[in-house]
Amino acid sequence: MKSRVYTEKNQQSVKCQPMPIILNSRDAIVRIIKTTNCRTDLHGSKGREGLGIVESVGKTVFTFNTGDKVLISGMSTCGKCKCCQKILQCSCNMQEQGDTLDGIQAEFVRIPFADTRLYPIPHGMDDDVFTLLSDIFPVGFNSTASNEKVTLGGRIAIVGAGSIGLAALLTVQCYSPTEIIVIDLDDGRLATAEKFGATMTINNSDGQAAKKVLLQTLNGGVDTSIETIGVPATFELCKKITASCGHIANIGMHGNKVNLYLEWLWKRNLKITEKFIETLSTPMLLNILRAQKHVAQLRREHRLPLNTLNLCQY
Ligand code: ZN
Repeated sequence: MKSRVYTEKNQQSVKCQPMPIILNSRDAIVRIIKTTNCRTDLHGSKGREGLGIVESVGKTVFTFNTGDKVLISGMSTCGKCKCCQKILQCSCNMQEQGDTLDGIQAEFVRIPFADTRLYPIPHGMDDDVFTLLSDIFPVGFNSTASNEKVTLGGRIAIVGAGSIGLAALLTVQCYSPTEIIVIDLDDGRLATAEKFGATMTINNSDGQAAKKVLLQTLNGGVDTSIETIGVPATFELCKKITASCGHIANIGMHGNKVNLYLEWLWKRNLKITEKFIETLSTPMLLNILRAQKHVAQLRREHRLPLNTLNLCQY
């Protein structure tokens, strides 16, 4: 089968690979129909998400059978360990993912813990929209949904208008904020953010975003800032624009050290939360999409065959 693989650091190509096989009784083998990039804008392009048709299942997979059309969640979780029972599947003690599991930009993939990682796809739904439910939409929603990160009538800033930032922008509107400021370096992305409901957009190419946000909020800052990129500069921007007693919701995947500046943060009573993906929200988000609340706004701009080296983009 064909699969996109890393050949050396930052180099990728499409190669013939051995067909995946069931290694554990909870595995399934899935033939991929569509896949996309995962998580934050600057995260690696390995890919863990998509949808496909079940080819075969292990002896203790009870929910799915050969021929089922399924959504592949971006998170592989056992559903039984202490973290899974605390609804912290992203910290599952048994998970096989990250660098230990092959990506799914391939013709066939092995899916560990199939019963907890796969979701059935109802008939009549748009496949393109479903690729968003593997990872992008749950991550965007997680930034807003728990720990009172976003409150009714709050002022929000979203740093980064890539796929995750736009998903956060769409889902944060479930909480009726009064103001949603989106910050990015690209005017095209910001135009999309305006279309999706941003009340104000700022291009930070001039480095003046913090100043503009404080001006807009009468020097108070926003109640919640959502960091969706995962680099030190964007986290620092969130620190500058979040009001005292506010909330920084970090969902960007940081690959480098980030300074917390506790000597500055402590007296402002800021709350910082971070979370890797958890997909318990997937059925609820599926219902939102089925109700077509946001479907009309979610359309892929580029579709590419597997054998291209370019990344699929929104
Ligand atoms: Zn677990």
